[in-house]
Amino acid sequence: MKRRKFLQLSGMGALGVSLTSFSQKKIVETTNSTEIIVVGAGTFGVWTAYHLNQMGAKVTLLDAYGPGNSRASSGGETRLIQADNDNDTYIESALRSYQLWKNIEEISGEQIVLSTGRLAMSSNIAHEHQALKRQKQLERQGINNTEVLSQDEIRYRWPQINSEGIATAMYNGGGASGSTFLARKGIQTVAKEFEKNGGKLKIAKGIPVIKNGRVQGIDIGNEVLKSQHYVFACGSWLSKVFPGLLLPKLKVERRDVLFVGTPAGNSQFTYPNIPEWSVYGSGFYGFPNIKERGFKVAIYPDHNTFDPDTDERLINHYQVKRTHDFVKHRFPALKDQPIVESRVCQVTYSTDGNFIIDKLPASENTWIVGAGSGHGFKHGPAMGEHAAKRILRKQINTKYTNLFKLKEKNF
Ligand SMILES: Cc1cc2nc3c(=O)[nH]c(=O)nc-3n(C[C@H](O)[C@H](O)[C@H](O)COP(=O)(O)OP(=O)(O)OC[C@H]3O[C@@H](n4cnc5c(N)ncnc54)[C@H](O)[C@@H]3O)c2cc1C
Repeated sequence: MKRRKFLQLSGMGALGVSLTSFSQKKIVETTNSTEIIVVGAGTFGVWTAYHLNQMGAKVTLLDAYGPGNSRASSGGETRLIQADNDNDTYIESALRSYQLWKNIEEISGEQIVLSTGRLAMSSNIAHEHQALKRQKQLERQGINNTEVLSQDEIRYRWPQINSEGIATAMYNGGGASGSTFLARKGIQTVAKEFEKNGGKLKIAKGIPVIKNGRVQGIDIGNEVLKSQHYVFACGSWLSKVFPGLLLPKLKVERRDVLFVGTPAGNSQFTYPNIPEWSVYGSGFYGFPNIKERGFKVAIYPDHNTFDPDTDERLINHYQVKRTHDFVKHRFPALKDQPIVESRVCQVTYSTDGNFIIDKLPASENTWIVGAGSGHGFKHGPAMGEHAAKRILRKQINTKYTNLFKLKEKNF
């Protein structure tokens, strides 16, 4: 059956959302009308809610499974912050976000950011020229910790890495251009601070109730919550919430993450003795052993699709073997070490790799914030701030508005 036909038959409108009216449902309309409801407490939602609250709005934050849950893209152990981007707007956002992550650390007294450094290795010597160009670009933005390293220098600093075949590397020694977040802890800390500031957090799945093209409320099963503005920051679930509009514009892909055991009594692979690392073109990157979880190795798998609600989060033997083979070669001391933990996560790509922070078409009161496109975690604070300013009609950075527009193009 054609998709359009299916949506018609299943009673879904242009936005692909249930058109159920309030009167048809056995629901109690809440009397505690809030000003803004944010659906989804990943990095985009939790930071949007936090900023809205800070700016004086009355905010309810809903999450179906809870902030930083195992199904959410923001629920992993660690995420990187770096500023390695052709587009200066993303560098500005990384800098602002880093500052806001550090602020939340200070306010909460919790450590979220670790100065791991970032080592981007490549076997292609042509990348040395690109790294030197990037170094200059970052310096123009006030980031002065970029080094371009030779193979000998890599071998000297990190003898636990087999640098065979590596021609060059770009290294950033911390700050906004090379630090690691304790991701899940970060999200849960922001959610806690939001609640401390008077924000309301509710564990509930929220479905928009649409009438005449406008979101009229959020159906949470036993009641409908109403407010002046609605924000949908549902990560990989966005295309389930608005299938008519967003299924053609978002792609959800699976990512596998394996934690390799470190040898007994050996701290060479433990923070701060080795940085976050990647090998260009290998399909592998990873993080040091942090909080004793093991040496993290992340794999870009073949293209795939993923259902964030129902798919099993188990690693297959092929990926385990690939990881062992890679680790044995690049980190020889980890040869024969077992996989001690694993995670499966999903990324949500927009058609152009940019985030989406925009109004739902033809709607004045409803916003979409998401499409992290594999690099969204770090930017949550600045994007949440931007979204909050747009919603409350405060002065905004217009560069963000244009870059994060909901584009016409479909996949
Ligand atoms: C393996 C991996 C590594 C990554 N590495 C990095 C990195 O190093 N640096 C970086 O910056 N980014 C990285 N990313 C990308 C980054 O994690 C994501 O871009 C970001 O976390 C997306 O955040 P989000 O808020 O859009 O979505 P999520 O974090 O998925 O949050 C969405 C939330 O919405 C809730 N929800 C959904 N639907 C509903 C509903 N109807 N009602 C109520 N709640 C709902 C979910 O429960 C979830 O908690 C990585 C991603 C993966 C998977």
